[in-house]
Amino acid sequence: MNKNLMPEDSAKLDQLETCLQERSTHFLGYPCTTDFDYSMLNKFLKHSMNNVGDSFYLGGTYHINTHSFEREVVDFFAQLLKAPENNYWGYITNGSTEGNLYALYLARRLHPSGIVYFSEDAHYSIEKNIEILGMQSQKIRSQKNGEIDYEDLENKIKDYPGLPAIVVANIGTTVKEAKDDIKEIHKILDKLKVTERYIHCDAAFSGSYAQFLSPKPHFDFSEGADSIIISGHKFIGSPIPCGIVIVLKHNKEKISNYVNVIDSLDGSITGSRNSFTPLILWYAIKMIGRDGLRQRLYECLDLASYTIGKLRNMGIKTWRNPNALTIIIPNVSKHLQHKWQLATHDGVSHVIMRPGITKKMIDRFVLDLKKENNLSVTNREAQTI
Ligand SMILES: *Cc1c(COP(=O)(O)O)cnc(C)c1O
Repeated sequence: MNKNLMPEDSAKLDQLETCLQERSTHFLGYPCTTDFDYSMLNKFLKHSMNNVGDSFYLGGTYHINTHSFEREVVDFFAQLLKAPENNYWGYITNGSTEGNLYALYLARRLHPSGIVYFSEDAHYSIEKNIEILGMQSQKIRSQKNGEIDYEDLENKIKDYPGLPAIVVANIGTTVKEAKDDIKEIHKILDKLKVTERYIHCDAAFSGSYAQFLSPKPHFDFSEGADSIIISGHKFIGSPIPCGIVIVLKHNKEKISNYVNVIDSLDGSITGSRNSFTPLILWYAIKMIGRDGLRQRLYECLDLASYTIGKLRNMGIKTWRNPNALTIIIPNVSKHLQHKWQLATHDGVSHVIMRPGITKKMIDRFVLDLKKENNLSVTNREAQTI
């Protein structure tokens, strides 16, 4: 690989860069942070890195890896999520979809006859993963705000007496950022005397900051979670999709197999695994850390109040769940959906506050909405933008 790209191919890359830069300044509908710079890690693109195997298993004959960094990242999130000190395990996945698949796979191995209960506001990956795994499941109604309907959950569990319950809790649903309460879920299971149970928390977006909210949502290991997943490319920020899955070690040990050919344990879904994303997340936790995550959350909460204020001022019917960074508005035109990259679903659009959004971006969006709704725009508004 020592020749140069043809000029037209080079130009194509430049065009892509310009396009990505522009689109990143009109990006309000997805929870993916944009204000990062991982160029310090560029030099690692020259290595044939592969994290195949289990990064906690100190062996393995493939050494061009970032296992020690992966372990540090898992340690950081295990502590954040209050996992028991000597009883957790995890790895860096390709994202929360793989994390959900791994958690459900583990749950199925532990409770082969278990029924998976998940709410209608759960991410589409849950239903897909249930289908891949061939598990029996039951969809639960959601409340209006997107949180699971506990009464419906209780009734549906009653339909399967004597069978283990595998409950997927959402810690921030995709559309409304509603948070299910696993203390309530445990109460229901206690009441129905379901002793064989597994609670998985899908915390793709909110998992990295929910500990800093007040009141704190009930979802961590100290409150009875058996596994938790978080996406790395959402609130934390990454140019490559990734995620963190944390489970209880004693559960994982019941299912992982020693693989002779790599002299390691095969615990994860895929064989070859990304070595670069553990470096990205490691760099993020070193640069941002726990305090930085908290600080960034507070900034996003401020931005959410600012945005809600602006929208209400212009008479738009908007709402959000308590402490949510996701703001629900009536669905906007196709033009604005595309211009601002707004996910739209069932008659509502949402804008999601995450690091990298500026007040100026919000002001520009509000101006567009005003124009669309034929509201008058003051000179000052028109100029500041
Ligand atoms: C985004 C999201 C997922 C899927 O995450 P990926 O990292 O995109 O695979 C799963 N669950 C919830 C609640 C999400 O918001």
